[in-house]
Amino acid sequence: MCIFCKIIKGEIPAQIVFEDEYVVAFNDIVPQAPTHILVIPKEHFNNATEVVDSGLWSWFMDAALQIVKKLELDKQGYRFVINTGEQGGQTVPHLHLHILAGRNLGWPPG
Ligand code: AMP
Ligand code: ZN
Repeated sequence: MCIFCKIIKGEIPAQIVFEDEYVVAFNDIVPQAPTHILVIPKEHFNNATEVVDSGLWSWFMDAALQIVKKLELDKQGYRFVINTGEQGGQTVPHLHLHILAGRNLGWPPG
């Protein structure tokens, strides 16, 4: 079982900031910004490309935006990132959306 599936099952601790029927969100263990949250679907998908259900995408993005609004990240700005595959910089093979906020974020990414 992957590390994020273990977090979903409560077998590995995490600071959960949001949970509903299909989605869990928790603080990244190595934060790259003052706010660094990972949003994941409860169902395991290796990456974004594997999700073909537009209903799940809709639910997933809605959950991420609920977190943004609850934490008022939209006031100063924020960034959504989904790293995918080796060159995309993905290190955990369970789809996750990074929410980064709380500092000026550089562009282009490394
Ligand atoms: P990525 O490199 O896009 O696959 O992102 C994986 C993210 O998962 C990294 O930012 C890690 O810091 C984070 N991470 C890995 N293990 C844990 C964990 N046990 N709890 C919270 N975040 C984690
Ligand atoms: Zn998983």
